[in-house]
Amino acid sequence: MERELRDRSPFLLYLLTASEDQSLKDMSALQVSAAVEGRDFPGLDFQYSVDDRWGRRFSITANPYPSKDWPLHQIQVTREDGEKETLELPFTFADFCSMDPTLRQHFRKVPMGYWREELVPLDSYLAGAPENLYRQIPYIWMVDGKRELWRVAVSWQVVAWCRERLDYWHFLQENSGVRSYHVEQATTQLKQELNNQWEEEIKKLKSKHSEELQKAQAEAASKAMEKLANVLLGLDTTSMADTLIGEITAGSYAQDTQILAEQEPPEPVAEASIEKTVTPPRPQQLEAYIETALCTSCNECTDLNNRIFGYDEKNQAFIKDAAAGPFADLVKAAEACPVKIIHPGSPLNPDEQGLEEWIRRAEPFN
Ligand code: SF4
Repeated sequence: MERELRDRSPFLLYLLTASEDQSLKDMSALQVSAAVEGRDFPGLDFQYSVDDRWGRRFSITANPYPSKDWPLHQIQVTREDGEKETLELPFTFADFCSMDPTLRQHFRKVPMGYWREELVPLDSYLAGAPENLYRQIPYIWMVDGKRELWRVAVSWQVVAWCRERLDYWHFLQENSGVRSYHVEQATTQLKQELNNQWEEEIKKLKSKHSEELQKAQAEAASKAMEKLANVLLGLDTTSMADTLIGEITAGSYAQDTQILAEQEPPEPVAEASIEKTVTPPRPQQLEAYIETALCTSCNECTDLNNRIFGYDEKNQAFIKDAAAGPFADLVKAAEACPVKIIHPGSPLNPDEQGLEEWIRRAEPFN
């Protein structure tokens, strides 16, 4: 059990072994773990001597899923038709309360006939738009004595407790820099500035290119005109072929068009030969990357796959090896990154399962 706890959360072990509080010692390991995961009793790490800046002294990264509202767990269930399915469920403060027999009256099993769209998962309910809240009923999943999974509606009192715990959790996130409002604002502003700079740069390049193109066209037209004039005046009859074929630019002069029209049309190319020689353009391959300088070191990506993601000497994330895991992990990390600085690029393995869906989900981040 100790090893399990240390792997899960080092400060849980500390709480159990070092606490002076007897009531805490009396709690089972499962209850303590649930209290931490349900954000009732989040772990705080404060090291005064590390630095004189608060951001370096204070941390909540030892909690599970520090940048999310609630920790996520994957459970495998067997459906009525015998098919196995994996569900990813959050562990909320309501789940923690459901372990307390004195709070039974706050939870009601919902018969299957009432599983309608008004029933919404508690985490979505809490994150939802306020105008929908009075039309919806929040629920959590619970297992009964027959090991069957049920939707269980929670009372408004539990919802209010969840909001209060979430508010405190957001305060801790903000203070530890995991999900800071100011960082998010600065990142958005920086991105906007970089985008503006790029757009400005692209505009300048386009305008320069267009100027050079016009200049080149004007020079070519003037040369052709000069040679044509020489030919017509009988000054340079030997170069007539060159003038007509080599230097006339399409659409420049009516004379050119007429002369070209008198020439033999080119042999038509057989369709089969076109099919053979013309290969369809390959989609552009984008490389995965991270805007490392904006990384808040929240561990989301490295927790997800530490073979793909790693930290540099400044403790900021970068892509160690994009081929060291499935493309799906790059997309999941991009979705989970609180400051949205992971760009998953294009998949490296065309045979990966469900690639179409992952490419679709990667699009907003590339
Ligand atoms: S890049 Fe990784 S460690 Fe950095 S902020 Fe994003 S998810 Fe967190």
